[in-house]
Amino acid sequence: MTRCSRRAVIRGAALMPLTATAEDQGQRRAERYFPTHGTYDHRTLSYDLSLTYEPAAGVLRGRAHIRAVANRPLRQVELDLARLTVHDARVDGAVVRPGRRRNKLVLPVRYPLAAGTPFTMEITYGGRPGPVRTPFGEIGWDRTGDANDGTLVAAQPLGAPSWFPCNDRPDDKAEYIFRVTVPRGHQALANGTLVERRCTGATECWTYHHAGPMAPYLAALYTGRFTHNTWEARDSSTGRRVTGRDAYPARLSPQARHDLGRQPTMFAAFTRWFGPYPFETYGAVVVDADLDQPVENQTASVFGRNHIDGERTWETLVAHELVHQWYGNSVSLRDWRDIWLNEGFATYGEWLWSESLGEDSADSIARATWHTLAQRGTGLRITEPGPDRIFDDQVYDRGACTLHALRLTMGDDRFFAMLRGWHHAHRSGSADTAAFVAHASRPMPNVLEPLLHSWLYDPRLPPLPRPEPGKAQS
Ligand SMILES: [Zn+2]
Repeated sequence: MTRCSRRAVIRGAALMPLTATAEDQGQRRAERYFPTHGTYDHRTLSYDLSLTYEPAAGVLRGRAHIRAVANRPLRQVELDLARLTVHDARVDGAVVRPGRRRNKLVLPVRYPLAAGTPFTMEITYGGRPGPVRTPFGEIGWDRTGDANDGTLVAAQPLGAPSWFPCNDRPDDKAEYIFRVTVPRGHQALANGTLVERRCTGATECWTYHHAGPMAPYLAALYTGRFTHNTWEARDSSTGRRVTGRDAYPARLSPQARHDLGRQPTMFAAFTRWFGPYPFETYGAVVVDADLDQPVENQTASVFGRNHIDGERTWETLVAHELVHQWYGNSVSLRDWRDIWLNEGFATYGEWLWSESLGEDSADSIARATWHTLAQRGTGLRITEPGPDRIFDDQVYDRGACTLHALRLTMGDDRFFAMLRGWHHAHRSGSADTAAFVAHASRPMPNVLEPLLHSWLYDPRLPPLPRPEPGKAQS
């Protein structure tokens, strides 16, 4: 095992967007769906989180060391942090007196920071974390409520501030180190690779490193007791071997091994369709609690125990969360309004998986889905669902139908090349619908641009193109 030094945490720098102009910033701020979360004043390079969790009391003590760069001249810096108490705050090593404004932490800066200046923040904080109230229910850090006092994080889209101070924007992506201390006998799982485990008396510190870059809402920590299954998969596009590691409660072991058992096959298929797997590892984490939905936490998707039954009833969701590692996590959203780029792709990945198993073809699923959408009457403009409806079924279903309409029109070879090209062009970055339309319509702009406009921008549901024999099968 190696130890990660803070000096190593520089990779994110080259991947961050260039300094935004004041006009860009104003425009983006005005248009965002959740303007109270995140700031464009700075961009984050890395989070180094040292966390101690006491399960019996449900108490978290944390120290966040954050490296960032000012996007404009700054006299104060904003972070998102909910519920937890700040004990000490420093900017560039100098103690500052933080202000709190609802779920904002405002750090005054002793000497104004010029645009482009790198700086550090160190926040010592703690308390009893819990989910935050959002339009989508209570999300973020949560306790499993089982006998092992486990915890989980399912933060999409607005729950990240429930456990660490962050710049909570989907396009502010950074590198992470998690140093998590739990009682001996408990485990801590986080994004990326376990680089060190160290016992000290009655506690154990688990250190993870994830180069990412990763948006705050995809950061995850799971504590409790888990059994693990390690698997190997081959990346079809590069030949690289990737090691996967699933975790689940021991008593669910036979069912979980079965339900998650086809991930290496998915991995081989997805790397063929979507291109190289973007991260160093992957695993499904099943927590000892019921969850409404799994969440695609980066390299460590979370499933509820209710998603495991030993009969692969929810295998489409296993596929869905894996697809998100390309589309949603590696290629992130510029803003939540463009969420169809995550959910339409992950849903279409489910259909492709079904087709590859010889079950329902993507075409038959798309036609059935189209009829369901048609019966609903007035459609949703999926590129502008509204902040409260970003998880509306139509975003998923019409988004996937949009991709199927493209596939039928372009033919398989061009369609899959387009999917791979989209990931290749925006890997580790973030993108929006306009960029996708420009990318996808490039082979036949006269045909594909109007097609995409009708599917993406017009609430009326367009007809699905007829399949050309031999063209729509993979
Ligand atoms: Zn999804």
